[in-house]
Amino acid sequence: MAKITLDNLAHSYYPNPKSEDDFALKELNHVWADGEAYALLGSSGCGKSTLLNIISGLLHPSQGRILFDGVDVTNASTADRNIAQVFQFPVVYDTMTVRANLAFPLKNRGASPQYIAQRVQEIGAMIGMEAELDKRARGLTADAKQKISLGRGMVREDVNALLFDEPLTVIDPHMKWELRTQLKSLHHEFGHTMIYVTHDQTEALTFADKVVVMYDGRVVQIGTPEELFNKPEHTFVGYFIGSPGMNVIPATVSGTTATVHGTQVQLDQGYGDLSGKVELGIRPEFVTLTETDGLPVQVRRVEDVGRHKIVRAELFGKEINILAEEGQSISPDMNRIAFDPSRINVYVNDWLKTGKAA
Ligand code: ADP
Ligand code: MG
Repeated sequence: MAKITLDNLAHSYYPNPKSEDDFALKELNHVWADGEAYALLGSSGCGKSTLLNIISGLLHPSQGRILFDGVDVTNASTADRNIAQVFQFPVVYDTMTVRANLAFPLKNRGASPQYIAQRVQEIGAMIGMEAELDKRARGLTADAKQKISLGRGMVREDVNALLFDEPLTVIDPHMKWELRTQLKSLHHEFGHTMIYVTHDQTEALTFADKVVVMYDGRVVQIGTPEELFNKPEHTFVGYFIGSPGMNVIPATVSGTTATVHGTQVQLDQGYGDLSGKVELGIRPEFVTLTETDGLPVQVRRVEDVGRHKIVRAELFGKEINILAEEGQSISPDMNRIAFDPSRINVYVNDWLKTGKAA
């Protein structure tokens, strides 16, 4: 297990990058704690695999260093870094049995036959393939092969870190949940440093202690699920996390007052006079539909999603989402909205602005 330091790291797939746009991974500096479970979350193409492959050593960064427990491993091979990595699509030896596939990483490192037998049995149970251990991998489904890949990734207890790159893509939904739970319990049991790449927020939020949100080659926030929900540091995080995501509303701000299309909105913090692209971020959970005062909206649609309703409305021509209680009736007279002032976040050019207590 290791603490992972990303020092001044950046990567471009071009030999002579000219501008920031040429970098798949923009400069970053972070320390990832030993033994923590991280999820790397972001949409397709934002640089998740690039970062993961730099950490594992499959890719050499065009700039910066990677350190494991303070030791520079930038030029070390994957094997020397002592890392296990599981990919999106199965990597198995078709001619070998499931058992031999699982045993392979242990054999390679010279573990005793007795230990191998016991550990393979354990992992076989963990991935739900005890009954198939003596089958050859060749005849198995893609789903089963991916479970073997996962098992191979988890079989060694002595790795510095376990890296997963969207490993459950080909797995059916029920098994997905089960395997994710297994990974989590594995983490609790052994305390490995784990990095789990996904574009699925539910997967990220249920698996990780800390979620690393990436957007356009940049790490925009590292936080607990709660921090990402309450204080998104970038509008993308607000929008990407939550369902529906945070509402982002263009405004002007002066002191403790925001103005949206001529209507004033009270803030509970002071911000001075802000310039640039100023926006308010408010989650649908903290918007209330009323009949009296507030910003004018037109309700377009009400969706019943079980424990609550999602009200889709329009605010000055832009969609705004409101969460209402399951039992709340939505009347046609409700054409105003109010915000919980303590839940309003203020953004300038997409980045969170911290206010001063008013
Ligand atoms: P993600 O895993 O988040 O989907 P990637 O790290 O695979 O994103 O890709 C980040 C960016 O780098 C994308 O724009 C992608 O097209 C580009 N890219 C990825 N791999 C290569 C490569 N081998 N050569 C050139 N460009 C690449
Ligand atoms: Mg990827």
